[in-house]
Amino acid sequence: MTQYDWMDDALCRQVSPEIFHPTIQETSLANKAKAVCANCPVIDACLEYALEMPGVTGIYAGTNEKERRLMRRRREQNATQGNQGVRDTGTAGQQTSIRIPTR
Ligand code: SF4
Repeated sequence: MTQYDWMDDALCRQVSPEIFHPTIQETSLANKAKAVCANCPVIDACLEYALEMPGVTGIYAGTNEKERRLMRRRREQNATQGNQGVRDTGTAGQQTSIRIPTR
């Protein structure tokens, strides 16, 4: 078992790889890729992989490079601010954070 075994279950292996590398103008292709990701059973592992590899391009875990850059920045800000009350849900394409109630 390797750290990349999750890739065996990647839904993107079953569709045309071009949709995961759209140009900026090809928003419909990007949306198709994001729809595939939304149903992928390994989306969480994929997102962590893509966040750890800033050089990867294209759609990963329903996010594009710009979205992942923002997620990395937000994580860094949370880490440096010691903001333990905010957790990035890591949900692809939604760019959401939830606030965990503190007591
Ligand atoms: S989340 Fe998307 S890019 Fe990642 S493995 Fe699944 S289908 Fe592929």
